[in-house]
Amino acid sequence: MGEPIHVPLLDLSQQNQPLSAELKETFARVLDSSQFILGPEVEAFEQQIAADVGARHAIGVSSGTDALLLSLMALGIGPGDEVLCPSFTFFATAGSVSRVGATPVFVDSLDDDFNLDLEDAARRITDKTRAIIPVHLFGQAADMDAVQRIANAHGLKVLEDAAQSMGTQFAEKKAGTMGDLCAFSFFPSKNLGGFGDGGMITTNDDALAERVRILRVHGGAPKYYHKAIGGNFRLDPLQAALLRAKLDQLPNYIGKRRANAATYLDRLGESAPVRADRLVLPSELPGRTHTWNQFTVRVVDGKRDALMQHLAANKIGSAIYYPVPLHRQECFAELPGIGERLPVCEKMADEVLSIPIYPELSAGQINHVINTIADAPF
Ligand SMILES: *Cc1c(COP(=O)(O)O)cnc(C)c1O
Repeated sequence: MGEPIHVPLLDLSQQNQPLSAELKETFARVLDSSQFILGPEVEAFEQQIAADVGARHAIGVSSGTDALLLSLMALGIGPGDEVLCPSFTFFATAGSVSRVGATPVFVDSLDDDFNLDLEDAARRITDKTRAIIPVHLFGQAADMDAVQRIANAHGLKVLEDAAQSMGTQFAEKKAGTMGDLCAFSFFPSKNLGGFGDGGMITTNDDALAERVRILRVHGGAPKYYHKAIGGNFRLDPLQAALLRAKLDQLPNYIGKRRANAATYLDRLGESAPVRADRLVLPSELPGRTHTWNQFTVRVVDGKRDALMQHLAANKIGSAIYYPVPLHRQECFAELPGIGERLPVCEKMADEVLSIPIYPELSAGQINHVINTIADAPF
């Protein structure tokens, strides 16, 4: 027996260490510039993201959460409005709807891809429904054809939540180009992970882009003349410059995540069904490009927590994204109709477990995860 192999859920130092010299140079460049609010570093990063995503506009903001909030503000969503969103997602998706005074209307998810069930969404449309937020969860796009059909039929605005999914595609179309607006996040655990908080809004709509830019700086246009009430939602030049130094690597990171996922799917899946009785593996649906921000398995029959402990005992990190669906959160308990069950996402919350998938995993580490799952005590 050699040294026990340690496999953390995420290892940022392995990603950033090879770029250390470039990142330090970048820091020095911004330090020397003394430009610490907006300006050329933010603009250069915005232009590169717009080009990569294929959107007309990219606007750097303070976080993925603020990208969602600011997008809803720019769309003019507010009190009396209903916004459809998944219940099985990170809190910010629905939290931002409530923060603009609108009502989140929770939609069940699909077993296939953890994303919105668009038939369930259609059933929940009322004359107050103004927008829909498809989340591209874990790195795979929601069914944007179905989203577009519903949005067109009912005049809804579409806000993509691609916080976990920069680079993902739905039938040749990239996340960030398929809605009226799109929110990205550079939280360190995302596929393009920053050095603190950061986010980006993309859009092909010139007027919406202009509104977002004005609301990003308190709604002043020109400065100190306020037609609208905005906030401080700016991305720091330092963050923008450091992220731009990493941006070239994004296709490489995604490629490695995809290779790691392929290994898991091959060895845990059909060609060698290690635990087919207990494990439901995620999949890449036809016509979509999964970017695997998370590799999330489902462990059936109440064995999820046992597997998590077994992994931990073997020095393997894992996490539950997400343990409580949003329609079961205390802060939403007063929403109308909230007692209704959303059976698929409730089941998912009991079964999901995300295992290490980060780009820098070694073959030995991946082997250790697969072997450890293979002799799980169930
Ligand atoms: C991370 C995330 C957010 C929020 O992004 P932050 O940058 O952490 O504010 C929003 N939605 C989803 C689905 C996320 O995963």
